[in-house]
Amino acid sequence: MPPAHPFDDDKLKEECGIFGVVGVTDAANFVALGLHALQHRGQEAGGIVSHHPDHGFNSARRFGYVRDNFTSQKLMETLPGELAIGHVRYSTAGSKGQTQIRDVQPFFGEFSMGGAAIAHNGNITNAIALRKELIERGSIFQSSSDSECIIHLMARSLQRNIPERMEDALRRVEGAFSVVAMTRTKLIGVRDPLGVRPLVLGKIGDGWALSSETCALDIIGAEYVREIDPGEMVVITAEHGVESIRPFRPQKSRFCIFEHVYFSRPDSIIGDRSVYETRRQIGVELARETPVDADLVCPVPDSGTPAAIGYAHESGIPYGMGIIRNQYMGRTFIEPTEQIRNMGVRLKLNVNRALIKGKRVVLVDDSVVRGTTSRKIKEMILDAGAAEVHFRIASPPTAWPCFYGVDTPQREKLLAATMSEDEMRDHLGVDSLKFISLDGLYRAVGEASGRDPKSPQYCDACFSGEYPVKPSDMMEKGFQMKAAE
Ligand code: SF4
Repeated sequence: MPPAHPFDDDKLKEECGIFGVVGVTDAANFVALGLHALQHRGQEAGGIVSHHPDHGFNSARRFGYVRDNFTSQKLMETLPGELAIGHVRYSTAGSKGQTQIRDVQPFFGEFSMGGAAIAHNGNITNAIALRKELIERGSIFQSSSDSECIIHLMARSLQRNIPERMEDALRRVEGAFSVVAMTRTKLIGVRDPLGVRPLVLGKIGDGWALSSETCALDIIGAEYVREIDPGEMVVITAEHGVESIRPFRPQKSRFCIFEHVYFSRPDSIIGDRSVYETRRQIGVELARETPVDADLVCPVPDSGTPAAIGYAHESGIPYGMGIIRNQYMGRTFIEPTEQIRNMGVRLKLNVNRALIKGKRVVLVDDSVVRGTTSRKIKEMILDAGAAEVHFRIASPPTAWPCFYGVDTPQREKLLAATMSEDEMRDHLGVDSLKFISLDGLYRAVGEASGRDPKSPQYCDACFSGEYPVKPSDMMEKGFQMKAAE
């Protein structure tokens, strides 16, 4: 498993990436490439299941990076066929922090009408209750993952084919889910009724692909066709193409707004908008809302870069690379010793002293979670001789945990849950600290009138505390929702 790093735990972490293809020779190789492009969505483990008419279902699940496992010819030869799905994981449910191989997806189930494999991105908010019920009725769980509930619900369904059993199962599930699944002949994709997590459709030659993000379609040379709609199920075969089904009661969509801010890769497209361009626009809005007299705008690399470019453009303050990232550090560095660990953020980031010295610096970052990294970066900038440090944050204060497939600290650990903006400024020890407003963020993602408070256009629960799906399991464990205003 790749080692955790002291500075990686100060960001929200996207949970999983999913990918599938049908109708191409050696489909598993395409899935491996797709998962490689989705590695930013989960670095802990990955898995691929393929099907070949003569060799049946085959699977491989491994800890670590896709490139370190699914590039071996020997391994890939064990995954033959023209149909395959895959998953990269950062654990959000299950044995968090001590993942076992049995928790690594895709999961596989053998039914009377044939086998099916399933890969899930998101989080089932009623999984504890479902699991209890299923165990009481005789289901034997193999993993600690919430996603396995879907397989057991499918096993209990009385429907005659696998897509219908999946519809049945997913109607019982609450929360956020994008699913890529396969039978012997079909590739299946589903998004939850609110469309919280992403899923897109691509075309490759005579075949089709499903992916969490469009950047993974690019890597295999697939053409982006469209997003799977919230509440839509697509059943795809090489022979008959895409059949669209609407198994759920229609609801207004609530896509995760944080995908725009941070999770998705900047070269992906969401809702026909470039993620890079949206982030640049967030920087423009941020500059309009939170101006400051300064000499230099610097991104906190890499995720703050497009917003910093937008901030500099709108404010007229020169843009510069005041912080340089060590490109070869990444997450693959050898297990840090305590001494190296204490070097903290300096392992990954270094200050460009010649540029910073004597300047009033605006630092643009995508978010503040615990604030530990922000403090260290501020110290590095001041040590390098900056005259002033002003933080500008491209998201509103993160004051609530996410229960929809993103790893967030407990609420008490979120800086914005316990401190006002001024208190956070003093805690970080900077000259000023400002966040984009929720309305400003909505404008930047294309909602000209901002957020509709009566019926928000996105999920923004980690900022607003307004959860579009009740987090039943967590409430059972004592989580307190925000009181109605
Ligand atoms: S709570 Fe935040 S991170 Fe989670 S789905 Fe909603 S917007 Fe995204």
